Amino acid sequence: MINRERLVDEFLELVKIDSHSAKEGAIAKVLQRKLEEIGLEVTVDEAGVKAGGETGNIIAKLKGKKQGKTIVFSSHMDTVVPGEGVKPIVKDNIIYSDGTTILGADDKAGIAAILEALRVVKENKTIHSDIEVAFSIWEEGGLFGAKYLDYSKLNADYGFVLDSGGSPGEIITVGPAQDRVNAKITGKSAHAGVEPENGVSAIMIAARAINNMKLLRIDKETTANIGVIKGGEATNIVTAEVLIKGESRSLTEKRLDAQTEHMANALKEAATYFGGKVELDIERMYTPFSIASEDEIVVKTKEAFSRMGIESYTAATGGGSDTNIFNGNGVKAINLGVGMKKVHTLEEHISIKDLEDSARMVCEIIRIFGE
Ligand code: ZN
Ligand code: CA
Repeated sequence: MINRERLVDEFLELVKIDSHSAKEGAIAKVLQRKLEEIGLEVTVDEAGVKAGGETGNIIAKLKGKKQGKTIVFSSHMDTVVPGEGVKPIVKDNIIYSDGTTILGADDKAGIAAILEALRVVKENKTIHSDIEVAFSIWEEGGLFGAKYLDYSKLNADYGFVLDSGGSPGEIITVGPAQDRVNAKITGKSAHAGVEPENGVSAIMIAARAINNMKLLRIDKETTANIGVIKGGEATNIVTAEVLIKGESRSLTEKRLDAQTEHMANALKEAATYFGGKVELDIERMYTPFSIASEDEIVVKTKEAFSRMGIESYTAATGGGSDTNIFNGNGVKAINLGVGMKKVHTLEEHISIKDLEDSARMVCEIIRIFGE
């Protein structure tokens, strides 16, 4: 049985530990100790060195008594800002921050659920296959922990990332790929009143390029956006430089390739048209994933929910998570809802019921893969 008080206390303890992205050193120490106390073998990989953070990812293992699929449970240790000095408040069985910070249920709810489930598995002597745990660093703003994770340390066939906002029952099986599409446009400055014909306006290049771009909703699977545009100093100067930050996403890499190329071409064409230059900074931030409903990982997860009496459903997300990176590195993974609400805001909260159901969900999945 899930120990509700232990679970809530541990969650409150975790959210009080500051862990902005790249500053996960303190929480990693605590989690390493907790995992060792439960009986897992714990290592820390080199992701911190590679990404430039305080610590690497925590990778822990619990040997199974039974042959079967190796499963890994994962949540990220970092939070967005402002996430330092969190003072959690419990009111009507819902946990909030005091309104001056985020809460950090994203993603410490997942961590607390995994820890509690592991304790229960140990206490009940549940028969299980090999279990792995990956607590990642620096998920927010780049998925760096998962990208630099040492996958040679993982044997997992299946991954369960606990990092989605729906209440337990939500199974994210589809996620898009994303490209960064940044550009530095260079024109030529000139006095706008005296000799404008000697200038090349980077603003005009940007305007033409963006005007020629298909943006926002491209098709059912594809989106694109220019989110930042910066440049210019004064009205009497023909602007020599403009910086643009954009993105494109698609569930299909081929469509993503096409959209990104289209955006790049619009920028190049406009630069050529006005006699300026464009430097493109384009990178695939993560690849897409799509797991079929008939896949064993989905079927067994649904079975776990049905045994818990929780209605489950599969869904697609428009966002990126460690799930994308796991799938891109050969670990078939899904993202599970843990009930974190209004994440990345000062109103972030989670109900104790969702926290409990998340821990039960992990227990049930472990039990099913041990059968
Ligand atoms: Zn998250
Ligand atoms: Ca987040």
